[in-house]
Amino acid sequence: MMRPVGWMILAVAVVSSLTLPSEARVEPTHGFNMFSTQEEVQAGQQASGDVSKQLPVLPDSSPVTQYVQRLGAQLASHAPGEKWPYNFHVVNQKEINAFALPGGPIYVNLGTIQAADSEAQLAGVIAHEISHVVQRHGTRAASKQMAAQLPLAILGGMMGGSVLGRMASMGLSFGVGSYFLKNSRQSEKEADLLGTDIMYDSGYNPRAMAQFFAKIQAQGGSNTLQFLSDHPDPGNRAQYVSQEAATLPAKKYRTDSPEFAEIKQQVGGMKPLTAEQIAAGQKQAAASSSEGPTNDVTASGSLQTLDHSDYTISYPQNWRVLGDQNSAVTIAPLNGVTQNAVSYGAMISPYQPENPNTRLDQATHELLASIRQSNPDLRQIGNDENIRVNGVAGKSVDLIGKSPLQDQAGRTLEERDWLVTVERRDGSLLYFVFIAPDKDFGSLRPAFEQMLKSLRLK
Ligand code: ZN
Repeated sequence: MMRPVGWMILAVAVVSSLTLPSEARVEPTHGFNMFSTQEEVQAGQQASGDVSKQLPVLPDSSPVTQYVQRLGAQLASHAPGEKWPYNFHVVNQKEINAFALPGGPIYVNLGTIQAADSEAQLAGVIAHEISHVVQRHGTRAASKQMAAQLPLAILGGMMGGSVLGRMASMGLSFGVGSYFLKNSRQSEKEADLLGTDIMYDSGYNPRAMAQFFAKIQAQGGSNTLQFLSDHPDPGNRAQYVSQEAATLPAKKYRTDSPEFAEIKQQVGGMKPLTAEQIAAGQKQAAASSSEGPTNDVTASGSLQTLDHSDYTISYPQNWRVLGDQNSAVTIAPLNGVTQNAVSYGAMISPYQPENPNTRLDQATHELLASIRQSNPDLRQIGNDENIRVNGVAGKSVDLIGKSPLQDQAGRTLEERDWLVTVERRDGSLLYFVFIAPDKDFGSLRPAFEQMLKSLRLK
């Protein structure tokens, strides 16, 4: 009889000793994530390589970059959770913006430094970006998308291979303009609250972070468009930042360092590029490269061969293979992968039916049901047909869905998806989804058929 009472007293004592000092910090949240920490770092590094090719990133030797790196490292040393390899960069761009890639790379536009009235405001933006890294917001968003997108619901459970390979095979990426750099309002609030603690623990007044966001929002216009789209206002920011700050003991906050004043003077004299100028530079670079016109989604008549671990297949010389050559791949024209989705091209993937004794017909229907479950917009047109693919039994199904592309009036294009399954020796399937907007499907069909004709299963 005595023992439970003793335990209860002990439990109460422990709880109150933990909650007494009112210095609790916000705990990072967790969510569904397909990326290991190692993959997360790798994904960020890959994207960081792309960013430095596409944006005018100041060299590490720039005094402005060195200042931001010191400020960033100071803030990052107070970040909770995983110790990501944080690194900081300045983009020579006029518009106010900042973004974080998975696993640590953080970019601040020069325009953001020009706009900051105090070191604490600049620290606020950086602390907010560090918090997006802590919360793994980018890879969490990507994981969600991958789970929802076409064959991945199937791929996810069935296949090995790296998540980066799978991501690439779906045409998804982090990097400039990536959908996954656009944060939800929920993510914004999480980054603000964690950022509040990081600011406080680094000696900066957290309210400066909320003030700077409010200032950016009040400024409006094209100068702030990208920032507000990547970091949408969750509402009541000033209020909840103040509330969180008020849970921490009052302290005397830091004032601007002499270095900040020097850097402010230096950036005041700099003329960063506008987004438009950067885009024009990119277009020029694309036009002068050997890849041909940027809207090329045609199939060249000459072929090259992919030697996959499960098969060989020939495909148009001017198309690219994305993805893991041991699992699923996407073969698409250079410009067939846009907006993080495949709009022209072929996805090829293995499929293991749930019941290993299932034959081609039933396995195809099972696959089709899975695909349609994750893509409710898809509808079958006509009946499925029995076909032979280079001597092997297969099925063919035509589907209509929604293209990621729009016409000039902004209407979503109809997409044709041609599903072909073939039976492998072990009873599992290899399946193809050939994709193009409905209006262009006819012109690409010969290229798709050519690919099927060349298929050799191993
Ligand atoms: Zn944000």
